[in-house]
Amino acid sequence: MIDNLLKFRKIIIYLIIISLFVYFYNNGPYSNYEINRISEINYKLDTKDYYLNKVQHAANSEKQKIKQEFVVRKNNTLSSILNKAKVKTPSILLKKGKKNCFYIIQIKDVISITKVNGELLYISKKNKNIECIYNAKDSSLKIINNKKIDGANIDFMELVFFNKISNSFYNSALASGLTPNEIMSIADIFGWDVDFTQDIRKNDSFGIVVKRIYEGKKHIKSIVKYALFKNKKKVHEAYNFKEVYYDSRGYPLRKQFLRAPIDFYRISSHFNRKRLHPIFKTVRPHLGTDYAAPKGTPIYSTGDGTIIFKGRKGGYGKTIIIKHGNIYTTLYAHMSKYKKGMHVGKKVKQKQIIGYVGSTGYSTGPHLHYEFRVRGKHKDVMKVKFKKGKKLNSKSIIKMKENHKLNETIYLWLRNNYSI
Ligand SMILES: [Zn+2]
Repeated sequence: MIDNLLKFRKIIIYLIIISLFVYFYNNGPYSNYEINRISEINYKLDTKDYYLNKVQHAANSEKQKIKQEFVVRKNNTLSSILNKAKVKTPSILLKKGKKNCFYIIQIKDVISITKVNGELLYISKKNKNIECIYNAKDSSLKIINNKKIDGANIDFMELVFFNKISNSFYNSALASGLTPNEIMSIADIFGWDVDFTQDIRKNDSFGIVVKRIYEGKKHIKSIVKYALFKNKKKVHEAYNFKEVYYDSRGYPLRKQFLRAPIDFYRISSHFNRKRLHPIFKTVRPHLGTDYAAPKGTPIYSTGDGTIIFKGRKGGYGKTIIIKHGNIYTTLYAHMSKYKKGMHVGKKVKQKQIIGYVGSTGYSTGPHLHYEFRVRGKHKDVMKVKFKKGKKLNSKSIIKMKENHKLNETIYLWLRNNYSI
């Protein structure tokens, strides 16, 4: 009896340990498998053909690519270095000639040897000024002048970031390794479809391919090449083509209206017609969206349009109304002040600042009350169908796909893992 009880206790303890393991395995920023993936993905190749290698690797996994590097020291010769790597020096590299940039090697030059399945692929010589590449396939020589690029060593790497959102997009994006600036770019890319201040739900997810550009060791710029964002079961994709973002069918993501009139900080209440009004303490329809934000936070117009009202408007306090085309208007209330130069009749652009968050009118704390109206009636902007932007022509779509071709395996992997 006691024996059985002990056995039972043992089993229970094991079960608890196993479930804890499963719990932590599934709730980290990424699973173990993904951590391996990320270390596999987040590395850099000098040859700048990372994805080419990646795709080759995926397509032919038994192929083994090895790269060895040697720094030239006193008394080294090219042959003595290649000997170390068990490579016979190609005769073309021993002959004196204008084209043979391997003929003279200097101390501190870096010689690298790349082999696939034991067979020589490239030999390269790199120093501050030049990179010299010998291609074993066709015995050709190539010289890349590093000094030509503004005298600086411009380099880049493409990285993949992905995560599931646990509480906030910003935190989950930071945890995945994205920088604050890159996170802001992503919010901008999807700003027409996703309101990052209030649409984000637990278990939303994202996968981002970023090209980081370096000047020497300094990270100077990032370009989002591809982004996937699953929001409330809807999957959004963005392909960079000539610095503009398109979906996979070639429609621009840019739309007539941005989802939010404010950069994403935090939000006090969701769109809800049965909301307790903070001052009157009665249920009155709340026809709009409230964005809680510090006083003075810039408010921008969600679309191109013309100001048709500017002034105090009862409980709304300091308000601006903008007309966009014939049937749409947007309203921005409780402002602390207007942006200089705003007046009735003034034309404004999408994302142009029109005023600043405040607490004027019936308001308990600084927030922006925003309304999107169709023929004067408030509507949930998500439920209004807008005309799509102009689709790319078929030639450009082919070009766009070509630009992303080498990344397809990675996009597919992101789609399979981060859009479900
Ligand atoms: Zn409100």
